[in-house]
Amino acid sequence: MDYRVSDILIPKEEIEKRVVDLGKQIARDYEGKELVVVGILKGAVVFMADLVRNIPPTVNVSLDFMAVSSYGDSTKTSGIVRIVKDLDSSIKDKNVLIVEDIVDTGLTLSYLVKLMHERQPGSVRVCALLDKEERRKVHVDVAYRGFSIPDEFVVGYGLDYAGKWRNLPSVHVVEVTGESRTEV
Ligand code: 5GP
Repeated sequence: MDYRVSDILIPKEEIEKRVVDLGKQIARDYEGKELVVVGILKGAVVFMADLVRNIPPTVNVSLDFMAVSSYGDSTKTSGIVRIVKDLDSSIKDKNVLIVEDIVDTGLTLSYLVKLMHERQPGSVRVCALLDKEERRKVHVDVAYRGFSIPDEFVVGYGLDYAGKWRNLPSVHVVEVTGESRTEV
């Protein structure tokens, strides 16, 4: 497999600042309310961990996780989503904030938002660290967006290529070749 991690696209200092802003925005919108923050494993873990620490206890936050798997080549989603791990608790009548690492075509998130709505929550919103808006195939309402980025495959700050690079503190572009299944 040939791949190369490029220079930094978004430095860790910029991510830190943006996550503080997002936390403030979320805190204002949900002040005095309960909020179930649903992290999509594994890519959103690093972002979610930083995000929730920037939401003060004026919001009653609980955490839950979902793991989904998408079939396609290593760098593109097919739109066929399989639930690998479901939520632990009911979200009926709850305010839900889905936290995702990146929105690309929007297929994964539009599926997940629809799935959440079927469970009759009080509300559902999406928070995504990164957004490749030009790649969108289906509409997704991203209420809280960290950064819009160009159509490049990126790794770091939780995002992987073939399971690697999640531990990089900044976001980098990676050039890849080859075919395999991607766990998202
Ligand atoms: P979508 O369904 O919006 O096309 O794709 C969403 C999922 O594809 C993300 O959760 C992520 O796992 C994966 N993905 C899309 N673009 C990238 C990227 O640039 N880097 C990485 N590491 N994953 C990506």
